[in-house]
Amino acid sequence: MSMLLEVSGVTVTFDGFRAINNLSINFAPTELRAIIGPNGAGKTTFMDIVTGKTKPDEGHVIWGERNISLLGMSESQIAREGIGRKFQKPTVFEAQTVRQNLAMALKNPRGPFAVLMHKKTKSNAERIEDISGQVGLSDSLTRVAGELSHGQKQWLEIGMLLAQEPRLMLVDEPAAGMTPEEREKTTDILKEAAKTRAVVVVEHDMEFVRRLDCKVTVLHEGAVLAEGSLDHVTSNQTVIDVYLGR
Ligand code: ADP
Repeated sequence: MSMLLEVSGVTVTFDGFRAINNLSINFAPTELRAIIGPNGAGKTTFMDIVTGKTKPDEGHVIWGERNISLLGMSESQIAREGIGRKFQKPTVFEAQTVRQNLAMALKNPRGPFAVLMHKKTKSNAERIEDISGQVGLSDSLTRVAGELSHGQKQWLEIGMLLAQEPRLMLVDEPAAGMTPEEREKTTDILKEAAKTRAVVVVEHDMEFVRRLDCKVTVLHEGAVLAEGSLDHVTSNQTVIDVYLGR
């Protein structure tokens, strides 16, 4: 199967320190993946590389969708290719309603390429219905975003990201600060989104990773330490040592 994103042999050095060290990691066109690893493992730097914020010193980052390198592209060009990122803190327009927030996201398609690709068979109103349903906010469309719970704000932002129709979504600790019920709902939203795209979740919370029930990649010292099911990677002695701090 051809890959959606291929990162191979990537190294990032900050003042002589290798934050990312010969990292190779691939993602399929539709998959849910959790990336875990202790503090300083390189998880944030990895997301910065994929989104073009940080340029590697060595290695290749190939966008399989068009078989092109992402390395010469700006952050906005990469976003237009269909790579979306959700930061940990929700950033929605608090004074606007849920509907207005989603409408704004729909009005800013990721670029000319996306517009060409996207067959406009549905009106924006229909798409807002679809997306709000996907993220569990159908009954909250007229509510002001600032009045939503923390979990609902996170779902709204995921909805705004989905409105951009990313092929690859990077999501940073989506369950942080959520109630158990909100976590469960978030799991469902991410699983559903991953049926039609790659969804990569960077996560600290092992209980949440267990709920995601997906392939896990463990990063350590800027490289892949282990990969596979959660049970597989957590039975690896080196992974256990790394998490216990040796
Ligand atoms: P994680 O997200 O897994 O906690 P990071 O990607 O933030 O890890 O960091 C990986 C390593 O690179 C850490 O040791 C961190 O201190 C270092 N690092 C990250 N960004 C910079 C920077 N801009 N300058 C210097 N060192 C950095």
